[in-house]
Amino acid sequence: SNNILEVKNLKKHFKTPKGMLHAVDDVSFFIKEGETLGLVGESGCGKSTTGRAILRLLEPTSGEVNFEGKNIVDFNGAQMREARKNMQIIFQDPYASLNPRMNLGQIIAEPLLINKVYKDRQKVTERVKELMDTVGLTPRLLNAFPHELDGGRRQRVGVARALALNPKFIVQDEPVSALDVSIQAQILNLMQDIQEELGLTYLFISHDLSVVKHVSDRIAVMYLGKVVELSDYNAIFRNPLHPYTQALLSAIPVPRVDAPDDMIILEGDVPSPVNPPEGCRFYGRCRYRQDICKSKTPELREYEPERFVACHLVEELQK
Ligand code: SF4
Ligand code: MG
Repeated sequence: SNNILEVKNLKKHFKTPKGMLHAVDDVSFFIKEGETLGLVGESGCGKSTTGRAILRLLEPTSGEVNFEGKNIVDFNGAQMREARKNMQIIFQDPYASLNPRMNLGQIIAEPLLINKVYKDRQKVTERVKELMDTVGLTPRLLNAFPHELDGGRRQRVGVARALALNPKFIVQDEPVSALDVSIQAQILNLMQDIQEELGLTYLFISHDLSVVKHVSDRIAVMYLGKVVELSDYNAIFRNPLHPYTQALLSAIPVPRVDAPDDMIILEGDVPSPVNPPEGCRFYGRCRYRQDICKSKTPELREYEPERFVACHLVEELQK
């Protein structure tokens, strides 16, 4: 298959004083080589936890993460260190993820040194300069410290670091949410240029559908620990199948003079992901709910070729 990543029945549960938190609850999806899959949902829906569990920065509770056909959840430490070279992450807050006591040269060189990529120190410096060039940072900044840079440049440093070991796959967790709007597009464009140049595959995590829309080939929508819809970008925007996706889409702020009649207001309680009940997680907020939705958990299933949705009533709603 041309799927670089296949996630199957992934779960990440946390013990809390109130009970078991089902942060990621039986999530399955795949990412095709060279594409960007957007993972979108409200804050707390489990999308960041999913991104970290895929890289085993958080150990999955159960499930499979097949990267290039191998389940990395079974990998031992040495195998995982090897696999990590191909699987990197870019975080939301570049400042928090950069060591303030190291200069840019040291920060970008660190993964090369830890993994002993070059014997020759001069080669390391050459590679660092090459990486800085790739992400649009002038080599004059080699000795600068993170606090001397604006948010956009700091995120470029995070990108350079993530690229150092020539990965094939990068998780981007809200990469532009902490940046000024004026800088967001620059970083998004940079990531797309780099993707084309290097043939990378991305998982792009964001709460902001308007940002996801810009960069994604396909989109996975998450709600309270579950993927509720997974589809081609065009299909999702033209005809969202899941009632939650419909609500999410209708709430995209678009400039308009009149009141938004077609905005679906979500009502009802958001259930807690701690000890979640059986049935559809969206039940309390869904305007189409029926009895079956309360008693039976809808599975993600292929409704049409390449269109996956987890809703009992999708056939009826599409009539
Ligand atoms: Fe709504 Fe039922 Fe579909 Fe859940 S399964 S989204 S409650 S119609
Ligand atoms: Mg998050």
